[in-house]
Amino acid sequence: MVSRIVVAGGGIAGLSTALLLARQGYAVDLVERDGPPPEDLGSIQEWQRPGAPQVRHPHMFLGLFRHLLHTRLPDVHVDLIAHGVDEVDMTAPPGIEAPAGARVLASFGSRRATVEWVLHGALRKQTGVRLHHGLSVREVVADQGRVRGVRVDGAVIESDVVVDATGRRSPLVGAFTKEVEESPCGTVYHSRFYRLSDGVPKPPTFLVPVVFAGGAGFGGGLYAHDDRTFAVVFARLPEDETLGRLRRTDAFEAAANAVAQFGPWLRPGACEPIGDVVPMAGLTNSWRELSPETPAGYLPLGDVLCTTDPILGRGASFALAGAAQLSDLMARHPTDLEAVAAGLRAFVESDIRPWYEDGVHDDVERTRSWRATVDGLPEPPAGLPPAVLAALAGQQDHRLWEQAQLRANLMAAPDSLDTPEVRERLDAVLATGWEPPVLSPGPSYAELTDALAAHGG
Ligand SMILES: Cc1cc2nc3c(=O)[nH]c(=O)nc-3n(C[C@H](O)[C@H](O)[C@H](O)COP(=O)(O)OP(=O)(O)OC[C@H]3O[C@@H](n4cnc5c(N)ncnc54)[C@H](O)[C@@H]3O)c2cc1C
Repeated sequence: MVSRIVVAGGGIAGLSTALLLARQGYAVDLVERDGPPPEDLGSIQEWQRPGAPQVRHPHMFLGLFRHLLHTRLPDVHVDLIAHGVDEVDMTAPPGIEAPAGARVLASFGSRRATVEWVLHGALRKQTGVRLHHGLSVREVVADQGRVRGVRVDGAVIESDVVVDATGRRSPLVGAFTKEVEESPCGTVYHSRFYRLSDGVPKPPTFLVPVVFAGGAGFGGGLYAHDDRTFAVVFARLPEDETLGRLRRTDAFEAAANAVAQFGPWLRPGACEPIGDVVPMAGLTNSWRELSPETPAGYLPLGDVLCTTDPILGRGASFALAGAAQLSDLMARHPTDLEAVAAGLRAFVESDIRPWYEDGVHDDVERTRSWRATVDGLPEPPAGLPPAVLAALAGQQDHRLWEQAQLRANLMAAPDSLDTPEVRERLDAVLATGWEPPVLSPGPSYAELTDALAAHGG
């Protein structure tokens, strides 16, 4: 019989797991090494989150995340909208009416800290949860093959279950790991947040809340976020020290201003920076296998088990999907922790592993292409990836649109566009003489590095 549960880590996976399990009647201790969020959402930008440095980078919350929030934690979803998060309705292309019965699809961009703030608000109102902030879990305590609790700074918190949601650098999972697969994402991020001035229209939201630029030798985007904030991001190869200058504020601003598409929001008077330029390096796709000796009741979730390239914006959805699965499994097998662990393993194998493999493949291809540009080698002309082509052609054929969006939003499998139906529909659209609109490419690699050099970067 499970009565007490410790959730180690209060990021996306930990906060949502604690909320779902407490609502099922479990007594939950949530232990988070960082301090609590500020009372006032207006001060959220100052919240220190050294335990989850990605909080200071932009976050896209894909359709899967939005769907799970709406169905599993509807009060949190409503609260998020009430606190300045705008959803992008992707049920049909912009300006086109969705056919009757079309499946509702939406996503949003938001500061990660805002999403966590809203989850914290729900947890504070929730009975059955004890929140411990500023406390690090050091070790899982197990005896005779079963979890007995966790050792925190100077004490033991007893429990029957330990949900390890301590993220990509989990200090706990190493003791129970059989094998780790790792493959570099091949990117370093440089991001900065801004707030739009009064009266300046928000950035457009087409396929997702982002204005794209780059793609040859680097990536770049302007991401619309909550409460009239937005972020500009550049991603570069780790070994590219020319673009490594982006870590300097003046060089970053020079590069951002060299992107014509960002002009309407970055022009003087249109916005104010609300933070420094922050880098994030050491990014990997990783996949972890647990050892057969893992004690019953130790249940890792989210980034502890699998990390994927942030460019693809998938990790938060996987974290929430894992929490929802765990909640279902605890409801189905309340007295059988072996069955819960096996069910969780089956879920990550079937629903997350294919995306991990998809991401590794994409990163290898993208890194090869970026390296060719940076090294000045001739690049083969890049066609549109099939998923992007299908989304664009979807403006002519709703079924194509739906299929492409379901995949892009993690609600259909990575290979779900590889079907005779999709190929036939695409061929039919192309046979009408339709051509995909030219996506604005932004500055070339040489133009970006020239802009940096012109500013002494
Ligand atoms: C630069 C960047 C950008 C990203 N952008 C996106 C995006 O756009 N969309 C998306 O879906 N995903 C994105 N991701 C991925 C996403 O952030 C993660 O997949 C997600 O945060 C995983 O959630 P988690 O709860 O498993 O881990 P985390 O969010 O990392 O949470 C772990 C928590 O555990 C705490 N902790 C750590 N050690 C201990 C300890 N010993 N004791 C107690 N607490 C501890 C940490 O402080 C933290 O709060 C991005 C990642 C990066 C690096």
